[in-house]
Amino acid sequence: ESKLDLISRCIRPFPDFPSEGILFRDICPIMKSPAALTAVIDLFEQHVLECHPVVDLIVGIDARGFLFGPLLAQRLGVGFVMVRKKGKLPGPTVSVAYTLEYGTAEAEVQEDSVSPGQKVILIDDLLATGGTLFAACELMKKLRAEVLGCLVVVSLKDLSGADKLKPHTVFPLIQFC
Ligand code: IMP
Repeated sequence: ESKLDLISRCIRPFPDFPSEGILFRDICPIMKSPAALTAVIDLFEQHVLECHPVVDLIVGIDARGFLFGPLLAQRLGVGFVMVRKKGKLPGPTVSVAYTLEYGTAEAEVQEDSVSPGQKVILIDDLLATGGTLFAACELMKKLRAEVLGCLVVVSLKDLSGADKLKPHTVFPLIQFC
């Protein structure tokens, strides 16, 4: 079985969650399978080594970006930074408001988390409309970091999140319509 097949089998659809009309893709079974989780990190690592040989930091998005980001950062031998929902981080921060597939939110990062010119890769579990990763890119712009690209386990193609993120690129492991 290929790594992608193994990962695909660990993504479950839940209709009408968290609200009617939304088909929620649940990645929890990946976390329960050491082999699937290893496969996710293997494929991300391989992509980064091939496409972005020089990386300074992995930047994970609250909350499921925190599941994959630190594991990838350790593999690559680089640090990990958290983009959090507003109000969770101490000290000076910068923030950006954005709209979600369902609702609105504000993303925040510590001002000293990334230095100007540092090369970063953003990571989250899933790309839907792209609003969340777009906000994270805006935060990186405020800190004058260089965004090399974005990584997601799942991309929901029909919501055109990748278009919203241009010129930044998105590398999804698995795509759904
Ligand atoms: P976007 O901002 O519309 O791209 O939504 C992506 C964000 O919402 C990510 O942080 C995801 O964790 C979360 N999200 C949206 N839809 C789903 C889903 O179907 N499964 C898991 N997470 C989702």
